[in-house]
This record gives sequence, C-alpha cells and structure tokens, in this order.
Amino acid sequence: MTVPDGLSRRGLLKKGAAAAAAGAAVAAGGGLAAQASPAAQTSGPAVITGRTFRAWVSRGTGPGRTKLQDVKLRPVTGRMVVVRTEATNLCYSNVGVVLGIQAAPPTGVAAPANAAAVGGTLAGTDSMALIQGHGGIGVVEAVGPEVRRVQVGDRVCVSGTPQCGSCYHCLRGRADICQLLGRNLASDLIPVADLGDGTPVYSNSHIGGLSELMVTWEEWIVPVVSKASNVDLGMVCSCVSVAGLGATTSGTLATLAPGSAVAVVGCGPLGLSAVQGARIAGASTIIGIDPIRMRRDVAMKVGATHVLDPNVEGDKLIDRVRALTAGPTNRTWSGGRDSGGRRSGAGADLVVEAAGAEFVRSKLESGPDPTGILPMQQAYQMASAGGHVITTGLVRGTIALPAFLFAIGGVTHSGGQAGGANPMRDIPRFVEMLHAGRFDPKALATRVVGLRDVLGAYEEVAYRTTITALMVL
Ligand SMILES: [Zn+2]
Ligand SMILES: [Zn+2]
Repeated sequence: MTVPDGLSRRGLLKKGAAAAAAGAAVAAGGGLAAQASPAAQTSGPAVITGRTFRAWVSRGTGPGRTKLQDVKLRPVTGRMVVVRTEATNLCYSNVGVVLGIQAAPPTGVAAPANAAAVGGTLAGTDSMALIQGHGGIGVVEAVGPEVRRVQVGDRVCVSGTPQCGSCYHCLRGRADICQLLGRNLASDLIPVADLGDGTPVYSNSHIGGLSELMVTWEEWIVPVVSKASNVDLGMVCSCVSVAGLGATTSGTLATLAPGSAVAVVGCGPLGLSAVQGARIAGASTIIGIDPIRMRRDVAMKVGATHVLDPNVEGDKLIDRVRALTAGPTNRTWSGGRDSGGRRSGAGADLVVEAAGAEFVRSKLESGPDPTGILPMQQAYQMASAGGHVITTGLVRGTIALPAFLFAIGGVTHSGGQAGGANPMRDIPRFVEMLHAGRFDPKALATRVVGLRDVLGAYEEVAYRTTITALMVL
C-alpha cells in the first residue's frame, strides 16, 4: 500500500516520542468503558501523534449515514492501542448500521446489551459519530503507557470479543462472554478522534475496523506472529471464523471427538468456518445445510461430506440429518447407535447453528424462515440424545421447542458467543491452522476491496451474493 504523508510508522513514532517526552497527561471521558479500560487510571504520559486518518464514520439515520471521513486521532492514553489496519471483515451483523437500513424489530425480546455491535443501532448512538467495523488485523503503531500485551511493531488481531482476563467470566473459562463485551452502550464509549468540526468520534464496540487505524484498548488485542497475507490472516482472525472454529475446536462449549457426526445449519462465513473446524477436529460426517447453492458448493469444497437444501427437504430436514448420522448398526448389544428415544435415526453429536435472521432479502436463494427461528428449532431437534447444540445466529423472535425433548431429550445447548472461543488462547491456534494449510481462508473471502469500495462490498454481503468480504489496505 502507499503510505500517505504523516502516516508512516517512523513519522508517527517520532511525533509520539516527542509528545511523550513533553509529558502530556490527558484525561478521558467517563462511563463504564473508562472504568474498564482506558484513561481513568492512567498515570503515565499520553502519546500525542496529531495524526489524521480516514475512517468510515456513521452518524444519523437512513441510507448514506456512513461516510468516509478524515478524523484526527486523540491522545493515546492508559491501555489504548493504535493499530494500522491491514484487513477487516465486513460482518453481516453490521449491515444495518453501516448501510442505514432497518430490519423488522424483534418481537417480545429485549435488545441484547451489545446490539450496537451485532445488529441495529442502540438508542443514543445514532447521533454519535461512530467508526464502523468490529475488529480486524494490523500492526501496532502506538500504545498507551500502561499497555503490556503488545509493543509497537507487533502484528495483532483486534478481536471482536475482548478478554480482560480478570472478570468473573474470564476467570471461570468463559472469556467469550468477558465482562467488557456488553460495555458498548452510548454511555460506555469514549471518543478516540475528532472530525474536522470538532465532533467527537467513537469506535464501534471500542474497536472499529473500517478505517486506516483501529483505535482500541489492550483487552481487545491478541498478538499473532504470522507472515500470512492480509487476506488470509484477516479472514482467519475475523469474528465469524473465530466463532466457527471456536464452536468446533475450542472445547469451551462442547468437545468434538474425532469420528463424530456434525451438522452445520447455515453456511455463511461462520458456518463454513465451523465446517472447516469439524474437518480439522476429525469429524467423520459433516452435514452443511443452506438454501444458497453457492454456499453448499463451498461447504463441500472445505470439508462437508453432505449438503442439504432446507427448501428442498422441507419438513423432512430433521429426519434426513438423523438418517445421515445413523451409525452402522442400531442393534441392541452390538454398539447400537440410535436416537435414544422414540425418534428416527441418530442425530448429530454436535450441531452448530449459524443461520440467523435475514437482515434484507437475499438476492440469491432465501431460506424457509427469514427470522431464523425455524433453523434454530431444527438445529436443536437434529442433535442426538446426549449431543450438543451451539447456537450463534442472531435471530428475531422467540423460540419454541417440543417440551418433552427439551426436558429429557439429553441435548445440551450452549449459547455460543464467539463459539466459545477464548481469544488469547484460541486465536493464535487458529492462525496455526492457517499456517498448516488446514484452514482455507480464500474460500470464504470471496470479495476483497480497498478502503473506498467498502459500501459496495457491504451491499454484496447484505444481499448474500458473496460468502463474505474483506477490506484490505
Ligand atoms: Zn462480527
Ligand atoms: Zn473478562
């Protein structure tokens, strides 16, 4: 890439060092984020770069709310980390906030705490200037005085899921739901830059990504040592691949034993990463389910042993999965494998639900239920007795399940934020899967664009004419 004036690392460091030497101390805003991560507890000098950079900034409502703007970086304090962006995934969950289009609101369900990151905007953030994106990869350009996890020059993943390492969830092995994850309400965000007119600019979910710089905090940073290309590393470190690989290989939520049967409901980039994770973990039967033919084709290419079209299977989808996962025998006393109850076939040992709601109607095939509820119900019912369901899709509505099955069917369900991935433990391991040639990133990154073409690529993501898209700088 070409480095505009003032953006070179050396230039930045020179300015940063000069400012640090001047001993500038800077206070930052309040709110939960300030308590949790940045400058409230700062003792050392801030790093002032005076640097400007380009970022896709959202503000207001409706189409056109996201514009490419020049913003000026604020002082780097406390545990702040500034990363020169190399690649960012255009996550489907941000279609609404980036393109300014609204999906039908959920009925009877309160918005999740991190709704700004995963779907529509939250009250209060519409009027804020927000750098869009949630994570990516890049090279550290500046760190606040309290940062320990990385140094300037390190290549890092800016993880969609933070890991503070000291909250209740992190300490009991559930870094996927670290306390900081939900702390991105309007009152939690703190400004990281300013527009030319002085308007404060915030990073979506404290991370941003659709910009030349990601201005974030140490808790969202995972060092990765890799010489992989920006596309390949950007894909494997994306929120969707981390979730798919996390669900199948992290062991946090379910253990996938070699030789097991796996069903993946929904073969977008997350589901296709789960298909790959199942292959890497040694599953013997891997069933990919998706209404879009192109996605089923990719599923076969990256490791599925079977694919099913829910529009073709209709009411028979669950029976088909149960039949495909039946063991070689169901004879009593002979190692029989059956449903463990009164149902047909056997069922998958692990089901990863990765369908979710359609935000806008697909320009390719659409599934039987755009709310995502039906695929989630089916996912539960295609698990074996004693099996495990990990749900990752963002659905609209309330799920109903057969109570008998739910009560005593032996199925364990895990709500799979990031697929249970523990960022600091698992992301470096996922990168090793890339290095070993076991994870195929290019099958998922079917659209790669530069900074200027982000909105066009986001439309392709929205209308599902690509598996996913990466912005690469
Ligand atoms: Zn995402
Ligand atoms: Zn934590």
